[in-house]
Amino acid sequence: MRPPRSSPESLALAAVWAALLDLALVLIAVAWIADAYAPPQDLPWKPLRLADPPGLATHMKFERAAQDRRACRAVLREGGVGFWEVPIRVDGVCAVLNAGRLQGGVTPLRPAGPVMTCPQALAYAFWDRHALRPAARETLGARVVEVGHYGTYACRRVGGRDGLSEHAFANALDVAEVRLADGRRVSVLKDFKSDGANGVFLRRVRTGACRWFHVTLSPDYNAAHRDHLHLDSGRYRVCR
Ligand SMILES: [Zn+2]
Repeated sequence: MRPPRSSPESLALAAVWAALLDLALVLIAVAWIADAYAPPQDLPWKPLRLADPPGLATHMKFERAAQDRRACRAVLREGGVGFWEVPIRVDGVCAVLNAGRLQGGVTPLRPAGPVMTCPQALAYAFWDRHALRPAARETLGARVVEVGHYGTYACRRVGGRDGLSEHAFANALDVAEVRLADGRRVSVLKDFKSDGANGVFLRRVRTGACRWFHVTLSPDYNAAHRDHLHLDSGRYRVCR
């Protein structure tokens, strides 16, 4: 008895399956090689780490961690950053949720320990590590010892508008100056627009903030920000 002849359709289907199998094997091999040899910051499936230099997948992993209460704390903890929980607080239309105080592992803020949301603390830690400290080292040849600020939480509206400010949720930080180990103070009000190294440093720090904070407003934005950098992790995106 002769074996049944394969139809052209079944041969074509077999060829498609063989091609898909080949493709799957190639993808598995690529993923395996990437997993073994590519830096973790370039791989979406590797955990986000504060110590790793920013890579291809860092932004995606950062945003994912910022939106996940537990992951946000885990990344800070793994990076050696202390984050002390504060209880929920509701002031009329304003509220402080998912928040704490940074302590250790980041450049200290002054006044010390302002309450901020975990996404904001995460953005501060990454900005400090990957923008502020390198900019000070490279443009001013000094180590940053403190960041002077005007506050994180204030139950108020956005200047001149109806919407609530991200400060109403402790989801913003107003940076006024940076203090260096050699005693120098670099002030947003005095130095931001200067042509000297201090100005170069502050503008670089501002641009670096845009990578980690959703909204970065500097003296370039408007006169209301002539003396501070407003950095927040709210839903809008502005870098100016
Ligand atoms: Zn502000």
